Amino acid sequence: MRIDSGRPGPHAVIVAIIHGNETCGLSAIRSVLAERDAILRGRITMIAANVAGHARRVPGQPQAGRFAEEDMNRLWSAARLAGDGADTVESRRARAIAPLCRQADLLIDLHSMATAGPRLLMFHDTPAARALLPALPHDHHRVRFAHPVHDGRLLIEQPGLLGEPTRAGFVVECGRHDRPGTDAYARRITHALLAAAGMLPPPATPGGRRPRGRDVIAVEMIRAESDGFRFLRPPEALQRFDKGEVIAEDGARRILAPFAPTYLLLPRLRPRSGGEAGILARDAAA
Ligand SMILES: [Zn+2]
Repeated sequence: MRIDSGRPGPHAVIVAIIHGNETCGLSAIRSVLAERDAILRGRITMIAANVAGHARRVPGQPQAGRFAEEDMNRLWSAARLAGDGADTVESRRARAIAPLCRQADLLIDLHSMATAGPRLLMFHDTPAARALLPALPHDHHRVRFAHPVHDGRLLIEQPGLLGEPTRAGFVVECGRHDRPGTDAYARRITHALLAAAGMLPPPATPGGRRPRGRDVIAVEMIRAESDGFRFLRPPEALQRFDKGEVIAEDGARRILAPFAPTYLLLPRLRPRSGGEAGILARDAAA
């Protein structure tokens, strides 16, 4: 789906359901379509990414339908996009939509989470991304990736986007899958990002003051080495640890917080041996 204002300006690409069960982005797309006459400049492309995963959702099971054959947000490397590795419904779909995503001056990839906890705006630091931040409400925690940390490349890390100074890519974790506020946040942050890019009028100032979020730098993925891996605290999207504090136990291994302070981001509910468990981050100001 595409909206063209008929006036020169940025090309924004809004991506929903790259994880098929994370439906908040569809709400944001419906909201942008309803506002199509208000678009001030540029054009907006909207993509429902993992339709095959989405079709596998199960009522009452918010985790079901994340993907059909493989995680669609781990296969955006040059090699996978060129056809290396498994031929899956997700890799074929990624190859089909990659050229469109690569044209984005502003890429907005909308997600929700299995865990409770604060909302996260995640990005790689480019001049274009940095230029948008001051115009956004800081009602989320901001996570800047020092470098790619996941086992495969994210959508915003594909060749042509990662490190390109004129391009801004954001992954937004809008809240827990099954919470009513998650859709509303996806709509709000999408509007705020488009407004920051001068494509929509600025949003009405929300009443009251929200606490300002943290700014952190994502440094490293924790990988489980055993199926006995467990975090010591109940998982939340962002948790603070003092340096040296025990974050997790993994068989005989203990994972200690390496930074003062350390933040644990997006811990998996059940990490499996060899898989991603959660991201270690440090204070951006430190
Ligand atoms: Zn997701």
